[in-house]
Amino acid sequence: MRRLPLPIYLIIAYMLLAFGWWGILLLRKNEQAHIAQVNELAYRMAVQQGSNNEEAFRNTDVYQQLNKDFDRGQKMIVGEAIILILSLIGGLALLFRFLRKEISAAEQQRNFLLSITHELKSPLAGIRLILETFQKRRELKPEIQEKLSTNALAETDRLTALVNDLLLSAKLENVYDINEESLDLGQLIHEAADRVAMKYKSASLHVDIAQDVGLVKGDRLGLTSVAVNLLENAAKYSQPTPVIHTSLQRGGVKELIWEVSDNGMGIPDREKRRVFTKFYRVGNEDTRTTKGTGLGLFIVKQLVEKHGGQLELLDNEPHGTTFRIYLPTD
Ligand code: ADP
Repeated sequence: MRRLPLPIYLIIAYMLLAFGWWGILLLRKNEQAHIAQVNELAYRMAVQQGSNNEEAFRNTDVYQQLNKDFDRGQKMIVGEAIILILSLIGGLALLFRFLRKEISAAEQQRNFLLSITHELKSPLAGIRLILETFQKRRELKPEIQEKLSTNALAETDRLTALVNDLLLSAKLENVYDINEESLDLGQLIHEAADRVAMKYKSASLHVDIAQDVGLVKGDRLGLTSVAVNLLENAAKYSQPTPVIHTSLQRGGVKELIWEVSDNGMGIPDREKRRVFTKFYRVGNEDTRTTKGTGLGLFIVKQLVEKHGGQLELLDNEPHGTTFRIYLPTD
């Protein structure tokens, strides 16, 4: 998070000191005015009575009233100064919070634009290259043709997945009704794991589904997206040799616990809440090497919550990350 420029802090410090100083000046002026009033009153009484009895003067109602007014004046100045300084600090704190949110939103947008441009450009460039190869060298061997078209299809899948993620995240923020059906979540996790294993050949994936899980009410597309996003992240952020475990078991009578853990780089404590924000990616987009848009975990969290579940992010031992989902069942 970027810090505000030093001159802003200097101006604020100056304003606070200036308010404090004005308060002290006002107190002094009030005191001087009071002394002048007392002196004038004492002088007038001495002239009227022809004597200068200080004791008698201090007992007069007029003198007592002057003292009361002075005390009230001092208290008012101190009270007003405290309220002014507190409201200034409160106002500035609110302003800073607002600014910090704006700055972080702008940073996220910048990260998003950089990553989305990259994610859109690289499959398009890949497909273009393959088409050019087909155009220039019409007599390609069948196995090369096969390989190139498989690559082109994989690139279009990548583009489709990206567009789907964008649409899904927009829908999740507005209207997304989960399409509930009775489904075999264990089977769904196996299928997602197979998809991810095909894509990340170096990953070793272990799926452990308990016998007593039974059928679950849920949105097939949504839960597939949860599984694929978590498993893909586990593979992506645990290179070069990802070891991924995913398990599904009964937690309580009406609850399932679904875990996905990896042996990767892990997520630092200070980032644990932020990774679920839309477009948020750990680190800086300019220096980041992994591909992604920062949409995956946002989508996962929203979908789990739409199913009435909860998502936890824990550290794995000795290193890596564990995502734990608590899903209610009927
Ligand atoms: P993306 O993977 O497209 O960047 P996500 O929303 O899926 O977006 O993840 C947000 C960020 O959280 C990632 O950029 C990454 O830094 C971090 N992250 C997610 N999953 C893992 C994981 N299993 N291990 C380490 N870091 C992770």
